[in-house]
Amino acid sequence: MHSRIRTFGEYRAAYKRSVEEPEAFWAELARRFSWKKPWDTTLEWNFAEPSIQWFRGGVLNISENCLDRHLQERGDKVALIWEPNDPTEASQKITYRQLHERVCRMANVLHNNGVGKGDRVCIYLPMIPELPVALLACARVGAIHSVVFAGFSSRAIADRIQDAACKLVITADGMCRGAKRIPVKEVVDEALQECPTVKRVLVAKRLHLDVAMKPGRDAFLDSELRKAAQKFEAEPMDSEDPLFILYTSGSTGKPKGVVHSSGGYMVYADYTFRNVFQYEEDDVYWCTADIGWITGHSYIVYGPLLAGATSVLFEGIPTWPDGGRFWEVVDKHRVSLFYTAPTAIRALMAAGPEDVERYKLSSLRVLGTVGEPINEEAWEWYHHYVGKGRCPIVDTWWQTETGGILISPLAGITPLKAGFATLPLPGVQPVLLDAEGTELAGRGVEGNLCIKFPWPGMLRTTWGDHERCRQTYFAPYPGYYFTGDGARRDEEGHYRIIGRVDDVINVSGHRFGTAEIENAINEHEYIAESAVVGYPHPIKGQGIWAYVICTPRAPGEEQLQAEVDELVSKLIGRIAKPDVVQVVPGLPKTRSGKIMRRILRKIAAGETDNFGDTSTLLDPEIVDTIKEGALVKL
Ligand code: ATP
Ligand code: MG
Repeated sequence: MHSRIRTFGEYRAAYKRSVEEPEAFWAELARRFSWKKPWDTTLEWNFAEPSIQWFRGGVLNISENCLDRHLQERGDKVALIWEPNDPTEASQKITYRQLHERVCRMANVLHNNGVGKGDRVCIYLPMIPELPVALLACARVGAIHSVVFAGFSSRAIADRIQDAACKLVITADGMCRGAKRIPVKEVVDEALQECPTVKRVLVAKRLHLDVAMKPGRDAFLDSELRKAAQKFEAEPMDSEDPLFILYTSGSTGKPKGVVHSSGGYMVYADYTFRNVFQYEEDDVYWCTADIGWITGHSYIVYGPLLAGATSVLFEGIPTWPDGGRFWEVVDKHRVSLFYTAPTAIRALMAAGPEDVERYKLSSLRVLGTVGEPINEEAWEWYHHYVGKGRCPIVDTWWQTETGGILISPLAGITPLKAGFATLPLPGVQPVLLDAEGTELAGRGVEGNLCIKFPWPGMLRTTWGDHERCRQTYFAPYPGYYFTGDGARRDEEGHYRIIGRVDDVINVSGHRFGTAEIENAINEHEYIAESAVVGYPHPIKGQGIWAYVICTPRAPGEEQLQAEVDELVSKLIGRIAKPDVVQVVPGLPKTRSGKIMRRILRKIAAGETDNFGDTSTLLDPEIVDTIKEGALVKL
């Protein structure tokens, strides 16, 4: 069998085998790695408790598989290219051998500071080389990393540290994002006032700021590293030992501490990376996500390094110094595989084509997107301006909980359709269920997206609260993993994600996904972005409220409403016309760029407080602005 699929026929065959003989299928893929001891049973599972065990009895260390395993063949190959925030600062290339040494040193530092197997380490770092090094060093000593996106408030950090009872924090003095300088250490200090479990804080110097250091607790990372030995024997880990905890983005509620395993996650991250992007040895791969999200864990660090790839680590933002920054980096490092999010694409699209047309982008071969449904206009723009019409776009659907991509085209192999995540990867068995939990057979159906068989990368529990894991993912439809998303399977069997199940709007008995309506609204020449929600309507059951962000030349609200009506009527039908169109300066987004629709729903329903957990919002003030604008419409 091939671990790398090359044709659609091979995809079909691999998929069939993965369903008929899942254990043999995954065992064969797992044998690519170095195991200190082979596993006894490939899979044991039930979705009732739930209990999921892959490669039980197997002993390994994922950092050895990311680094040591490549030293002989790829020791001098570049593992990481670090591109700093400021284009005038020099980039850095780190080979596999150098990365190995840095990780070993960092592992010694952790060990010297009392961190051992099973301990939790909070990592709150900007996108600098110390960040991936810290992840791999935790893995090497057997500690469980919990990365907190370095943009979160001290409240959000404290919540996550307390939930996981972290013993040590790795952070930086400060960070830069675009023109901004952020005093990171101060934010951590504030959080730690409420975190008695934290005994040590290691501080990387990024801006060389004069930071307060608490005696006995805080130490600079560089001086600790100088004292550390260059070798570190990787801790033997059971396949099911937790590798990391990562909190979800909080789009739908309080973030959940998703726990991933060592062995299964490794096999899955590697397989999906190589196949979805159709990775080749000389590719330069760039995922623009932050390592603070699952996308960065699986597809900046673990997946690419397991595959022995060259992965770009970018510290900056897409719009600084100008809207051409991404494309400049692509040309500079000859990036061939490029993976980003619809929110970034829309932001760059709104800036106009001049910034992208200045660059050649001739090295690009494959484009990817993740995070939310991509509207057709953004897809076409990405395809035309970035991919120059020749690069396939992989629209990858997955979640923090799934560890890796579940539904996606394989680049250049699966036929593409804008807005479609297309087909499940081998090993993934999606089903669509109706409200009663009955599987919807055949094609041209729409329902709750669930998965009926385990895959190696799936979550094992939610930290400290297994019952929450059961309740959230396995109790809604007994016997299935429930994703929380709704999807449609079209006449060709391709999947289109239509948004969160909770976001489905029911107008006089007609059900609409938010993505579908937004997709139509976004076609408007002067609308950059939109978010629609349902709200209680006396006649229709639910009415549709559209919040739209306009570009400068947009007409007044009244005329805009008329034009949006016409557009939606034409593209979907009169029934889907928004009842209210509200022009807003921004949308309440999580720091990972997702719209928190639950807040917009509350505003549309006339509720003015009780917005629940908003700790992951990027700009909490926008909520008040939108609220004020809504009041005149209610
Ligand atoms: P929380 O679970 O706390 O509400 P979240 O679901 O936003 O947060 P993530 O795990 O980061 O946290 O996001 C996963 C979700 O993102 C998916 O369930 C889906 O709704 C959306 N998503 C991701 N990729 C895609 C995609 N390619 N197409 C459509 N939706 C996507
Ligand atoms: Mg979620």
